[in-house]
Amino acid sequence: MARRHKHKVRSAERMAKVMAGVIWRDFEDGTIPSKFAYEGVFIAELRSSLCLTGWSWPVADEAARDVVREALRLARAVRPTWAEGQHAATGLLVREAWCRNCGIPLRERQVHYCSASCAQKWNRAFNAEAA
Ligand SMILES: [Zn+2]
Repeated sequence: MARRHKHKVRSAERMAKVMAGVIWRDFEDGTIPSKFAYEGVFIAELRSSLCLTGWSWPVADEAARDVVREALRLARAVRPTWAEGQHAATGLLVREAWCRNCGIPLRERQVHYCSASCAQKWNRAFNAEAA
């Protein structure tokens, strides 16, 4: 029987501390590139465990997110801003080297396309395919 009204995870505080310890340790030694690397898997694992003990999915999800939120707080994880999440800010060379539409090499500040007209043509073709 689902525990509809039970929102408190037993030993939530201890679990959050353990998770925070793992996040902190693996971030410090370079195993993970971000303190948020385990966020999804921690939520999924805890939610799954709670569901297996009879919690409903929405209640288990909310409770798991609360525990992981606390773990991230304890690990002093700070979410990057939108701008910090962009390729230019990450310094990762993941940008494409050639225009998606015409294939000519892109210059330094160009992203995906060599020109606005190539972007329009590619998007028109992409949207036609998707329709
Ligand atoms: Zn082009």
